[in-house]
Amino acid sequence: MIVGAGVAGLTAGIALARGGWQVEIAEIGPPEADTGWGLCLTGPSLRALAELGLVDACLAEGYGMRTITHVDVDGEPAGEVELPRLIGARRPAMAGIARPVLHRILHTEAERCGVVVRHGMSLVAVDQDGELVRVALSDGTVRRVALLVGADGIRSSTRGLLGFATPLGFHGQMVWRALVPRPPWATGIQQFAGKTDTAGLVPLTDRQAYVFLTENGVERSVLPDADLAPCLRQLLEPFPGRVAEIRSLASESESVVRRPVLTALLEGDWHRGASVVIGDAAHAPAPQMASGAALAIEDGLVLARELGRHESVGAGLRAFVSRRTQRCRTLVETSVAIVGLEQARRHHEAYGLVDSCHRLMAEPA
Ligand SMILES: Cc1cc2nc3c(=O)[nH]c(=O)nc-3n(C[C@H](O)[C@H](O)[C@H](O)COP(=O)(O)OP(=O)(O)OC[C@H]3O[C@@H](n4cnc5c(N)ncnc54)[C@H](O)[C@@H]3O)c2cc1C
Repeated sequence: MIVGAGVAGLTAGIALARGGWQVEIAEIGPPEADTGWGLCLTGPSLRALAELGLVDACLAEGYGMRTITHVDVDGEPAGEVELPRLIGARRPAMAGIARPVLHRILHTEAERCGVVVRHGMSLVAVDQDGELVRVALSDGTVRRVALLVGADGIRSSTRGLLGFATPLGFHGQMVWRALVPRPPWATGIQQFAGKTDTAGLVPLTDRQAYVFLTENGVERSVLPDADLAPCLRQLLEPFPGRVAEIRSLASESESVVRRPVLTALLEGDWHRGASVVIGDAAHAPAPQMASGAALAIEDGLVLARELGRHESVGAGLRAFVSRRTQRCRTLVETSVAIVGLEQARRHHEAYGLVDSCHRLMAEPA
């Protein structure tokens, strides 16, 4: 039983079903849920998707890239980070993709592998019952399962039901995103340092990209929908150079969202009996490293691999957590350090950290 049909839950479902497990996913959202804007699949994501045989489908519908271009506060180029190519020297180092497209690809493959996804359903209680886990679901049914995987995101309720407490970190940043037509010059990720905020552009397809803007030194707040596009335009105003072009595209966008940048890191074990939490439920980095989904996809793969390698579920979960803890901790802590450097306007130090952390993440999962 997996809770949550996001990136982590669907990937784990595919990998476990291929390993011979009978998998059911309880997903709280409806089938047609709006799964958000776009994201960047960095090298480790592409490598893990290649292992699942899904990378070509993602590249066919996404936008292959190799560089992150940093532009300083005066609009001058401040450096280019060429990311490691982990799926072959002639293939992209990373790819932008619309979230609904990635979800469709994962969902279709999960169902093809026999995974049953039940929408509008969540977990209400969990107890270890001998070697099995007794799970009570929101439709009133109860299952006794050999494995419970909590993949229900940063606000995971499975994590709470298992007795793991982890505070969510808010670091004084709100992040904005808007879907826009892709400008022809945007062939990689563009990141612009501002006097106060940071902005950027991520291509998603030949025709589409998303603009992001990270507001620094702000409280958590909610703005009325009607104010979002005009406010984003205002926040993009002080940026010089190419941001002017993005500004007019963003202010015409009908799809502007603003969310707090939150992080989470589970201290100690992520498993209890035959239950475990994975993905953002265990380790949610700030978006600055564009790697939370990479960790989530890797988690699904490594979980299935370690369970396949060990005699008991308990031993498999111990091996899984021990393999994943340091890598995920490094990513989350580095993302929080980058947030701190952005807040302190020490952008040049952040570029080096982004580069070195991507190189570290290129190591096998
Ligand atoms: C602004 C922003 C930009 C980002 N950009 C990138 C990027 O470019 N590249 C990248 O790799 N990562 C990026 N990330 C991080 C990435 O989105 C997450 O790390 C990733 O989605 C985590 O996957 P997950 O499956 O663990 O959680 P989620 O994607 O959050 O999925 C959790 C699922 O569980 C379901 N659920 C929740 N509660 C319950 C419940 N009680 N019962 C049943 N189901 C439940 C939800 O509906 C959802 O379907 C970004 C994050 C943010 C906030």
